[in-house]
Amino acid sequence: MADQVSGHMTPEELRRYGRQVVDWIADYQEKIESFPVLSQVSPGEIRAQLPAHPPERGERFEAILTDVDQVIMPGVTHWQHPSFFAYYPANASGPAILADLLSAGLGVQGMAWATSPACTELEQHMLDWLAELLGLPVAFRFTRPDGTDGNGGGVIQDTASTANLTAVLAALHRATGGAARRDGLTGRYAVYASSQGNSSIPKAVIMAGLGEGTLRTVDVDPATQALDPARLRRLIEADRAAGVIPVLVVASVGTTSTSAVDPVQAIGRICREHGVWLHVDAAYAGVAAVCPELRWLNDGLEHADSFCTNPHKWLLTNFDCDAFYVADRSALLGALSILPEYLRNAATESGAVVDYRDWHIQLGRRFRALKLWAVIRWYGAEGLRAHIRRHVAAAADLASWVAADERFEVVAPHPLSLVCFRLRGPDGPNEGLLARLNETGEIYLTHTRVNGAYTLRLAIGGTHTEHRHVERAWQLIQQIASSMREG
Ligand code: PLP
Repeated sequence: MADQVSGHMTPEELRRYGRQVVDWIADYQEKIESFPVLSQVSPGEIRAQLPAHPPERGERFEAILTDVDQVIMPGVTHWQHPSFFAYYPANASGPAILADLLSAGLGVQGMAWATSPACTELEQHMLDWLAELLGLPVAFRFTRPDGTDGNGGGVIQDTASTANLTAVLAALHRATGGAARRDGLTGRYAVYASSQGNSSIPKAVIMAGLGEGTLRTVDVDPATQALDPARLRRLIEADRAAGVIPVLVVASVGTTSTSAVDPVQAIGRICREHGVWLHVDAAYAGVAAVCPELRWLNDGLEHADSFCTNPHKWLLTNFDCDAFYVADRSALLGALSILPEYLRNAATESGAVVDYRDWHIQLGRRFRALKLWAVIRWYGAEGLRAHIRRHVAAAADLASWVAADERFEVVAPHPLSLVCFRLRGPDGPNEGLLARLNETGEIYLTHTRVNGAYTLRLAIGGTHTEHRHVERAWQLIQQIASSMREG
């Protein structure tokens, strides 16, 4: 076999190598627990093994696969390892992997309905399916349960960060009556989120050109870590009295730090009273509403102008897939619609279709609805609920074990699958505990600060994470805590 190739991969070669790649992925799933969860390489180690210059002649695919094993794999942190408990999960699943491959094979660019009608219509339908599965307010659907068309709807964004920025842009459009788009930002504006809001919120404010100073950080209740609505009200009233226009409130349902849930009902009433856009960021937690017993997560959502949640975190759909909904699409389209001559087409002119390029920042878009479709059909509502319930139950057990060990304390409510805990006392031993846990390669956890104290986060939610993995993690945490005490 020659070492070099020229030209395109033939369908026959694609078939051969494609089988090898699918086998590689299946083998990876089978042996994933044999890898250290957290990559052990040092900075620069991977680059040092890559050729300094690109190849002049094409290489065979076998060579690429060999390098994946030898060069790339040591530098991979195994997000799909069942003992990955860091950050929040990024679920990958068989049906989503294969559907993503189909999307790559089709190579569709669905910026407008006309550029691939199935890409748009499947996405509209999946977002309606997901709204039904999660019990979201009917206003967020394209088609209401009675078959009539609404003014709301959903779109797949790459990430919750993009969804949050999109919400800021739509809210600005509404708050300024379109002037922001026409004339730029001329007035004084304010955006509100709790001190526990995700970092993508200040970033969205910066990207929207509002300036960091427009973000009002609302204090949280130290016990719940949830936004204090009384403080929000005071801030909005003070801004209005000073001639500042309150643009948007971002409420978090499931904060990144501790999974705290802001009181959306109370926040929503304040927003209604003052005509402020309410966006609910439920990136991690929102998908848990697939379980009827967790539908309380949607309390107050009827007041929300927009909402986002990430099936790519905890609903078995490979990254990237954020579901972003608006109750009334006019402000969003008003903010982002652009129709140059080269995009004009009869379907768009008819007004009978959705052109998703007007629903987000970029023009081009992948056919991501395929993977959501595959996941929902493969697992069914029942399978999705079982996935969430398994992790919620494991987290409740973990929290009870932590609470029963007098060396430790649980430091925040744990309504879902994240448990925040620490060794009682100073930060130092907690930092040491985390470092030693992660050095084992057996598990991977990250940290946060709760009311100023260094805290370990154990986020359960991997596609293949079972109760036994959580039991083992707790065993390891106890062992290392004991050895630290002895040492
Ligand atoms: N919002 C919340 C509440 C999150 O927890 C996260 C990430 O964990 C994000 C936003 C950002 O998510 P993404 O990576 O999809 O931008």
